[in-house]
Amino acid sequence: MQDLLTEIAEVAAENPDKGEVANYIPELAGIDPGQFGMAIALADGSVFSAGDADVPFSIQSVSKIFALTLALGRVGDQIWRRVGREPSGLAFDSILLLERENGIPRNPFINAGALVTTDTYLAGSSPREALGELVRFVRAAADDDDIHINEKVARSEIASGHRNFSLAHYLASHGNMYSSVDKVLGTYCHQCAVEMTCRQLALAGRFLIDADSMPALVSVERRRRINALMMTCGHYDGSGDFAFRVGMPGKSGVGGGILVISPGRASIAVWSPGLNQYGNSKLGTEAMELLAQKTGWSVFGVPHVRTDGDV
Ligand code: GLU
Repeated sequence: MQDLLTEIAEVAAENPDKGEVANYIPELAGIDPGQFGMAIALADGSVFSAGDADVPFSIQSVSKIFALTLALGRVGDQIWRRVGREPSGLAFDSILLLERENGIPRNPFINAGALVTTDTYLAGSSPREALGELVRFVRAAADDDDIHINEKVARSEIASGHRNFSLAHYLASHGNMYSSVDKVLGTYCHQCAVEMTCRQLALAGRFLIDADSMPALVSVERRRRINALMMTCGHYDGSGDFAFRVGMPGKSGVGGGILVISPGRASIAVWSPGLNQYGNSKLGTEAMELLAQKTGWSVFGVPHVRTDGDV
């Protein structure tokens, strides 16, 4: 596994096309696109890493996995009255479907849906308490207390987040936003500004692996459902392409991080800040594709079953 990660990091380092760093959040615009890190936490407890795996980065939308988990913990299946479970086929911050579908976002991983999940785990708490709960959950999952919110990144996004504010106002106009828009946006932008290293993120993802040896933070059924949503909706309008190329559930963020789960086997984090046309890490996606090819870990790669029933 270590040789494979080292090889993947070398392939990434040699690729001259590193993608474009997200520039709509000013604080993220100046990040060096030449960075690449990857870490794998296996179900047997071993951890491997390569490249810049210990450099903290802004997890951005990868946080939507943790937010959804908290929201499900708060209200269970009631959440599905306020947000759907279908891929949107549109950009992460699109407002188009919200009008046609009466303020019910397609899924919890596009921005509109994530604002609903933030509003859900925020209900009845102050933003400080809700964010405290989120950070405590992530620290417990990673078994590491050195995980923090970058206040500068959060403020930078609050100051420039016109689209997210308009999505939230639109949701509010349909009665699908219970706390005030300012409170929800403040909490959402801080949630996105959590910083983690690849190693920490791979460890934090272990609760989704579905193996007895892993932290049991959610029920088996919930774990499977979160993985299903990651597979179908985790990469915005690039979700089909990611499933085609990698074949494992994953969630990306515009900071260039991706968390991928190999059910029963591993939690894998990759980070490279340059993005592809869908707003997902370019080298990160290519690295996951290479990993899937070399390991055969695509969930669609079941062994060929012969007609006599033998595998
Ligand atoms: N905080 C970012 C936004 O709402 C997250 C988007 C992403 O990571 O894909 O625009």
